[in-house]
Amino acid sequence: MRFSGLRILKEGLTGNRGWGAHWRDPEPKPAYDIVIIGGGGHGLATAYYLAAEHGLRNIAVLEKGYIGGGNVGRNTTIVRANYVMPGNSEFYSHSLKLWEGLEETLNYNVMHSQRGIINLFHSDGQRDYAARRGNAMVNQGDDAILLDREGVRKHAPYLDFDNVRFPVYGGLYHPRGGTARHDAVAWGFARGADMRGVDLLQNCEVTGIDIENGAVTGVQTTRGAIRAKKVGIVVAGRSGQVAAMAGLRLPIESHILQAFVTEGLKPCIDQVITFGMGHFYISQSDKGGLVFGGDLDMYASYAQRGNLPLVEHVMEAGMTLMPMIGKAKVLRSWGGIMDMTPDGSPIIDKTPVDGLFIDCGWCYGGFKAVPGSGHCFAHLLATGRPHAAAANFRLDRFRDGIGLMDEEGTGAQHNLH
Ligand SMILES: Cc1cc2nc3c(=O)[nH]c(=O)nc-3n(C[C@H](O)[C@H](O)[C@H](O)COP(=O)(O)OP(=O)(O)OC[C@H]3O[C@@H](n4cnc5c(N)ncnc54)[C@H](O)[C@@H]3O)c2cc1C
Repeated sequence: MRFSGLRILKEGLTGNRGWGAHWRDPEPKPAYDIVIIGGGGHGLATAYYLAAEHGLRNIAVLEKGYIGGGNVGRNTTIVRANYVMPGNSEFYSHSLKLWEGLEETLNYNVMHSQRGIINLFHSDGQRDYAARRGNAMVNQGDDAILLDREGVRKHAPYLDFDNVRFPVYGGLYHPRGGTARHDAVAWGFARGADMRGVDLLQNCEVTGIDIENGAVTGVQTTRGAIRAKKVGIVVAGRSGQVAAMAGLRLPIESHILQAFVTEGLKPCIDQVITFGMGHFYISQSDKGGLVFGGDLDMYASYAQRGNLPLVEHVMEAGMTLMPMIGKAKVLRSWGGIMDMTPDGSPIIDKTPVDGLFIDCGWCYGGFKAVPGSGHCFAHLLATGRPHAAAANFRLDRFRDGIGLMDEEGTGAQHNLH
């Protein structure tokens, strides 16, 4: 089933009776060439690119809940390529280029909106860093514009520019950054993979990984045993637990990240805005809700909900930056489990078990990485060689310390990234 304007018109005139399910609900086969554990954004994108770009068809994605129920449907939807460190910068640049053609690629409206991102700075030192970061982005082939205070005011007049503690000095503007509809991204990749023959098995939790003579042979699941020549672990916040089924101890800690949305308001925030003196960022959804968030909850946990001190902290930061937000009513808040690495950068690599691969460590920034991660992980699974854009995401960098990508300069403490 292809989506088109003509199709929508036809369905609209004939009672919308022609739409079918977006993907099948197959029974598990006894064996597949490749099994992907985790039906989040990264797992679905991996399956899609394995089928679409490498012509592989005998693939299953095993999801313990439902498609889109994990972080891919819980994030604040920000998509950008404004990283500084070699290793990260070329990867996110690659991912943003895939985003830019994604709707045509998938024939699916993921509502990718390049409305721009402005990272504010509030001191001379922060301005220097913003200039350096902008130069690195431009050298990478991406876009960055250093705005002074009046330049920011033109885009975001509602900010408290003369705040006594944190006056706005300017901002680094990344016009190609923006947002996308997160569920639609999961659905679009799921549909694209299913159309190419991939089995999407929901309510299918992996409970064990079978290994013989140092090589993976399959998985145990709540829907029975499934044999596989290759297995990819793509389970975000549960990476440590699933890898432990293969006897692996990952350099990952799981932490909670919360987000908030207000009642729907008339359009008032055109870009994504981030505060430079506290962890607070905000955008406005197409429905009108102000979507915002802040820092991690600062303790390791697998609970998918956050604590109240962090709620207070985020609200305070919002009020400091844009006091007008105090008039909006918060409708909902929620949390997701973040797979935090010691250098705040991801892992896409083979594991010491033959045929077992891992894609994890996306911390709180893995939504923008969905197409890039799927594309690079599919390349690794299909060819056995890392994709050039993800070659630095090695698992062994945490053992030898060579090639760490500490984007934020915060050292090896997981919860500070
Ligand atoms: C509040 C919040 C805000 C965020 N904001 C942003 C943002 O603005 N921009 C950005 O780039 N990133 C953001 N992120 C991060 C981003 O959402 C994640 O990094 C990314 O979604 C993780 O990858 P995923 O989509 O594959 O994860 P998930 O959707 O969590 O997928 C993993 C899947 O694995 C499944 N699974 C786990 N264990 C098993 C098992 N044993 N067997 C079978 N299946 C299993 C889970 O059920 C889950 O569906 C945010 C995250 C949160 C929580």
